[in-house]
Formats: sequence, structure tokens, C-alpha cells
Amino acid sequence: MMHIALIAHDRKKDEMVNFVIAYENVLAPHKLYATGTTGSRIMESTSLNVHRFMSGPLGGDQQIGALVAQNEMDLIIFLRDPLMAQPHEPDIIALLRLCDVQGIPVATNIATGELLLKAMERGDFAWRELVHKYKPGIDE
Ligand code: PGA
Repeated sequence: MMHIALIAHDRKKDEMVNFVIAYENVLAPHKLYATGTTGSRIMESTSLNVHRFMSGPLGGDQQIGALVAQNEMDLIIFLRDPLMAQPHEPDIIALLRLCDVQGIPVATNIATGELLLKAMERGDFAWRELVHKYKPGIDE
């Protein structure tokens, strides 16, 4: 089971919801996390259960970042709005930096998000299971 974080900025939330509907069966077996509003939107539109953190501007990216720092997040789909400044830009940069620190697959647009889920489906991220194996506790 993979630990997957889903984050979408406001003008990307419809895109995220449609994406998650399309990939609901692929995502269903995994443990899903999201920032507050993104998580609510996903749960309203699918039967998926999502662990919701704070809203992004209130610290949700940092909460997800904390799990990345502990190497407990396996994949992130983060639909950023490239055309609007965000008040929590430093948090966004920090989250992406931590993904690079740990080598965590992170997609910032739907095209790459789709590739990551297809790769996950065929087992390309099975190496993350080893991380879980040697970090007992994160699947509990
Ligand atoms: P939200 O946070 O899902 O709570 O809207 C994401 C963001 O806008 O950063």
C-alpha cells in the first residue's frame, strides 16, 4: 500500500476531482492524504477515504512535508496554479524541496500525474515497499 498525497490549488480543484474520479480504482487500495479543501472535494465526489490535513494556506503543505521529511510519503500529485501567486508560496517550495531531498515522485501537473499513477499501477514504485519494510510503523 502506497501513501499518496493529493493537493490542488483552487483553480485546479475541478481538474483534481475529475482526475481522481478517473483513477478512483487505481487509488482505492492506497492510503490517501490531502490538504483540507482538496480532501473534502475528493470525498464529496468519490467513495474514497482521504486523510485531510489543514488547508494549504494554513499549513497543510507543511504537514504533508513533515511526512515527506520522515520518508513516509510515497507519491505526491500537486496541481499547482502556475498563473496565480499563492500566499503560502514558501510552503509550496519547501514541500517540493523535501520531495527532492527524499527522492519522492512528485507531479505538478495532470500529464505527469497520470504517468505516475500508470507507473504505480504496473509496480514501478515497488521499491517504496522496501522503505516501508525497513520503517515499521508507517502502515499502522
Ligand atoms: P486546500 O489547500 O486543499 O485546503 O485548498 C491547497 C492549497 O490551496 O494550497
